[in-house]
Amino acid sequence: MSTYRAPLEDMQFALNELAGLAEVAKLPGCEEAEPQTVAAILEEAAKFASDVLDPLNRAGDQRGARLLEDGSVRTPQGFRDAYWKFVENGWNGLAKSPEFGGQGLPQVVAAAVEEMWHASNMAFDLCPLLTQGAIEAIELNGSAELKERYLPKMVAGTWTGTMNLTEPAAGSDLAAVRTRAVPQADGTYLVSGQKIFITYGEHDYTENIVHLVLARLPDAPEGVKGISLFVVPKFIPDASGKPGRRNDVHCVSLEHKLGIHASPTCVMSYGDKGGAKGWIVGEPNRGLEYMFVMMNLARYSVGLEGIGISERAYQRAVAYARERVQGRAAGLDKGAKTGPIIEHPDVRRMLMTMRAWIEATRAVAYVTGAAMDSAARHPDAQARKLHQAFVDLMIPIVKGHSTEVAQEVASLGLQVHGGMGFIEETGAAQHYRDARITTIYEGTTGIQANDLAGRKTARDGGATAKAVSREIGAVAKRLAAGADADLRAIGASLAAGVAALDRTIDWIVPAYGSNTRVALAGSVGYLRLWGLVAGGWQMARAAEIATRKLAAGEGDPDFLRAKVTTARFYAEALLPQAGSYAALATGGAEAAVALAADRF
Ligand SMILES: Cc1cc2nc3c(=O)[nH]c(=O)nc-3n(C[C@H](O)[C@H](O)[C@H](O)COP(=O)(O)OP(=O)(O)OC[C@H]3O[C@@H](n4cnc5c(N)ncnc54)[C@H](O)[C@@H]3O)c2cc1C
Repeated sequence: MSTYRAPLEDMQFALNELAGLAEVAKLPGCEEAEPQTVAAILEEAAKFASDVLDPLNRAGDQRGARLLEDGSVRTPQGFRDAYWKFVENGWNGLAKSPEFGGQGLPQVVAAAVEEMWHASNMAFDLCPLLTQGAIEAIELNGSAELKERYLPKMVAGTWTGTMNLTEPAAGSDLAAVRTRAVPQADGTYLVSGQKIFITYGEHDYTENIVHLVLARLPDAPEGVKGISLFVVPKFIPDASGKPGRRNDVHCVSLEHKLGIHASPTCVMSYGDKGGAKGWIVGEPNRGLEYMFVMMNLARYSVGLEGIGISERAYQRAVAYARERVQGRAAGLDKGAKTGPIIEHPDVRRMLMTMRAWIEATRAVAYVTGAAMDSAARHPDAQARKLHQAFVDLMIPIVKGHSTEVAQEVASLGLQVHGGMGFIEETGAAQHYRDARITTIYEGTTGIQANDLAGRKTARDGGATAKAVSREIGAVAKRLAAGADADLRAIGASLAAGVAALDRTIDWIVPAYGSNTRVALAGSVGYLRLWGLVAGGWQMARAAEIATRKLAAGEGDPDFLRAKVTTARFYAEALLPQAGSYAALATGGAEAAVALAADRF
């Protein structure tokens, strides 16, 4: 039996030492995010995750959400109550604007809290996650009237939000959206069409659901420039702002899925009875553009899902490895008969691999979260611009790499359990199944990799990528030249990783210009290379800080020594994969696209 315990010590280290929480707290509007206040928030969140969300996770997986005959959706027992506790405790509006009732905490703090929700109950947290996306879309581009009508309720969590992008013929390519919106004399629109895979499109938590819907106006140009964004509430608010008339939008079925069973994934039908009433967000034909701004945060959140689910799988694996007695561990006391499997070197390797991936991806995500805060709130415009360029580069890496890592970590977690991992009772299989969606929704890894190679690297001639790589290279050089043996080894390995990254950037930039198909054939390798090296960067910084603190007699020495050991493992066992990822990014690219489609 394993209960989720938020890894507060590591989270605090990543926030304070790596992401620079104290600096974030100096940004205008972030003054309340002092380390002590943040520590208290994290402790409260950790309790909520362990006491309320984690105990529901397995039952939610077994029971799943159900569509009833009247078209309503029932979430598994306990989820509705948990949602209301979540809302009443103010967790929904943690990083949202105080103007609409939020607490205005920095994104980097919200990230650590969010990781706990994902870890303890990913299916539950999808509802607040999608609401957050819908809030962002209205806040960034909606009229004052839309903001006033919807945001206070959505920030409080008394109404939830959804994102209605996907259609049967429009998945990765949203330019293919066919849902129609016809303007009415009163300035509203009648929306009709079908949306699929809509997370929490229908549920029993709240009295109203606010759908954000991509649709085309009758005279819209073809392609990406012809899509608009609409607010379509389930119940149309009346003059007093309360849910009024039922709108013409319904859930017509629920998908049967591999994982996240408690999260209802809905097929939504708009306009069966003439059209669902909708209100346009921003200007006509700019919906996709708005959506891409909003998607940054959603993609970042899905990256955090990867980290959360990895942490949960790791904790379960450690608990099992301590309990399960099997065989005598090689090289230990010869007199001992049998012992727990955690003593076997190969089991140690699996646990260490999981731990190293998690610490590295967490650190990269929190550092990116802090940069998001600086990009939004730094008083200096040039500093905001630089932070934004870093964030833009890192978002596909946090999303793509952390979720791909989650596949490996959840799989190792299952492997640690042996045969029992394959049996549902242990819970390891649920994490493996739940993790699987994270590389798919909010843009598949392939889509993230195209974004990274094209828009984020080639478009500025590799300038941002090279600037970040230089920063990593400087850390590597400093550590490699130092006196400490651990840090020297870490620095040398990181330097090799940076060299592989630089080679690959130098290859991608011209290749993208001359033969885009060839350049993109290995873009996932390029994304993984970035994730690996960025992780090595943060692990190297962590080891350096831990070493300094140990020498100064500061902090918890066991934690700090483990930090250095984990960083060294990362540097020596994982970072050398940089060469393979560079080969995957650049080698075989022509061959990958050479065969005619009918050869497969
Ligand atoms: C459980 C679940 C929840 C979801 N929740 C929501 C939601 O709330 N709202 C919503 O709107 N959608 C949601 N989705 C939809 C999800 O975002 C899409 O499934 C995803 O974007 C992929 O689109 P697709 O399924 O059409 O796959 P496709 O686009 O058909 O992709 C199939 C394969 O082709 C590859 N591919 C496609 N185009 C390219 C390209 N240009 N370059 C390289 N490779 C490419 C993909 O990487 C993938 O491997 C959800 C899906 C699931 C399964």
